Amino acid sequence: MSSLLAGSVAEALSKGSWIRRIFEQGAEMKAQCGADKVFDFSLGNPDLPAPPVVGKCLAEMAVHADLPFAFGYMPNAGYPHVREAVAAQASKEQGVAFTGSDVALTCGAAGGINAFFRAVLTPGDEVLCVRPYFVEYGFYVENYGGKLVTVPALPSFDLDVPKMLAAVTPKTRVVMLNSPNNPTGVIYSEATLEALAAGLVALNAKRDKPILLLADEPYRFLAFDGATVPSLPKIYPYTVVASSFSKNLSLPGERVGYVALTPTMPGKEELLAGIVFANRILGFVNAPAIGQSILLRALGSQVDISIYSERRQAMAKVLRDAGYDFIMPAGAFYFFPKAPGGDDIAFVGKLCEQKVLAVPGTGFGTPGYFRLAFCVDKKVIEGAAEGFKKAIKG
Ligand code: PLP
Repeated sequence: MSSLLAGSVAEALSKGSWIRRIFEQGAEMKAQCGADKVFDFSLGNPDLPAPPVVGKCLAEMAVHADLPFAFGYMPNAGYPHVREAVAAQASKEQGVAFTGSDVALTCGAAGGINAFFRAVLTPGDEVLCVRPYFVEYGFYVENYGGKLVTVPALPSFDLDVPKMLAAVTPKTRVVMLNSPNNPTGVIYSEATLEALAAGLVALNAKRDKPILLLADEPYRFLAFDGATVPSLPKIYPYTVVASSFSKNLSLPGERVGYVALTPTMPGKEELLAGIVFANRILGFVNAPAIGQSILLRALGSQVDISIYSERRQAMAKVLRDAGYDFIMPAGAFYFFPKAPGGDDIAFVGKLCEQKVLAVPGTGFGTPGYFRLAFCVDKKVIEGAAEGFKKAIKG
């Protein structure tokens, strides 16, 4: 029987996501051998509990759950007072003064990015991003007929600014950055971002529409050893920040995030109206009411990042002792080491034989590497040490 699916979806489905594939393989393995015998670094699913204020807020909300409209429709951009609160928090983080009308609440960063692309992309438009990259980007762009164009990072995983600028074409509508980065953990420096912004400003002078910069920042809160994450709205006026509370509050299943438009952006009112309209017509309608109420109480708190910091050190020790070649991540909760022997898929297979689950770099557009998510207990990291040693030996 011929497939009921659209060709592009059938094709994407058959290729599958490496992350999901390994995750599912892991679930089978855990069922067979016991969860404590499998060392699963496949998925960036934060394991730390949400801060206690989240539970308190839910308990309070339960008392009011019988009120009419407690969970009713609302303005599509979200509750106005929650937009104000998110704007105040984003202003602290970014060092620019957002107001509630610069912010739309969305179904996670992913929902925000999709609404943004729906609002700005015309089929055939290009979105530029650095490689390796979070693999969902390609699907998000294709959802609206766009084309993701990827530019290789420098060996340090830093942005290759001249190459990025050289890849801009008349069809480029958006440049997308993710810092701290999934999967490399790199944080782009202010100097690098300023160089990119200066190049974009120069290109804009010759264009009808300016190039928009999408800053995907769900890991902004997770920078190690005192590193700071520069603010793109300060550097480039056409910046749209997409972020979420999936990682800093450990609430990925609640689907709450936001987009925030640089306060000085010319035309920002129309762009925000377009994003909010797209959020509605894509069927998200609005960010979940419960998630928004949680935010109001939980903004400013976050999970205990010292735990991630300890795990990062533990993971680095395990990898170093076993002889892997890797760059210490400056932020986020991933390592992206080189695959010994060069064939990442074969090497991830070897790790799998040791019951260590990793995702091949191929899944991030960059063969020859593999990704490890260290949002797992330290015991899992230390327990995997032998497996990492055996896999590299043979
Ligand atoms: N962007 C990056 C780089 C991510 O790693 C993720 C989730 O892992 C997302 C966006 C999506 O986050 P959310 O759960 O807020 O939709």
